[in-house]
Amino acid sequence: MIEVISADITTLEVDAIVNAANNSLLGGGGVDGAIHRAAGPELLAFNRTLGGCATGEAKISPGFRLPARHVISTVGPVWRGGGQGEPGLLRSCYVNSLELALAHDVRTIAFPGIGTGVYGYPKEQAAIIAVTAMQAYADRFEKIIACCFSEADAALYREVLKVNT
Ligand code: ADP
Repeated sequence: MIEVISADITTLEVDAIVNAANNSLLGGGGVDGAIHRAAGPELLAFNRTLGGCATGEAKISPGFRLPARHVISTVGPVWRGGGQGEPGLLRSCYVNSLELALAHDVRTIAFPGIGTGVYGYPKEQAAIIAVTAMQAYADRFEKIIACCFSEADAALYREVLKVNT
């Protein structure tokens, strides 16, 4: 089941939340900063042992002080006009996060809009990629949540879901 909500992802009681991280995995702005603040300094200390993360790939950490059991960090592409492999890299973020989640017995998982903040991915194109990847995995999870940070973003996801089904 795919659910679209408008919420702060750090508040969700799920098996895993996904972080739109940067290559260092050592924190940043946007949702990354919010997740590090809510998880506590243990997340930074743990992530120092991970050796960073390539764009399009994903790494897993404990949730520490978060209600979520795990944090899956993935690194979206910086938008450079769409001709630099951005769609494939963004799809890889979703697919690699979902595969890593399956390998850790995650049944409920929530995603923010990877790449759609400071990395500049156009929101509608990103939502289509996100929803398509989620749909390909929906039957292997109890729940996949598209956690939007505004009602406008949630409306966009609902529209894409409607068109895609
Ligand atoms: P990126 O660097 O991948 O673009 P950002 O963190 O800048 O990542 O933005 C990714 C998305 O996360 C944006 O759509 C932004 O609105 C959203 N976002 C920011 N803070 C939160 C939060 N606490 N919970 C859920 N989504 C958030």
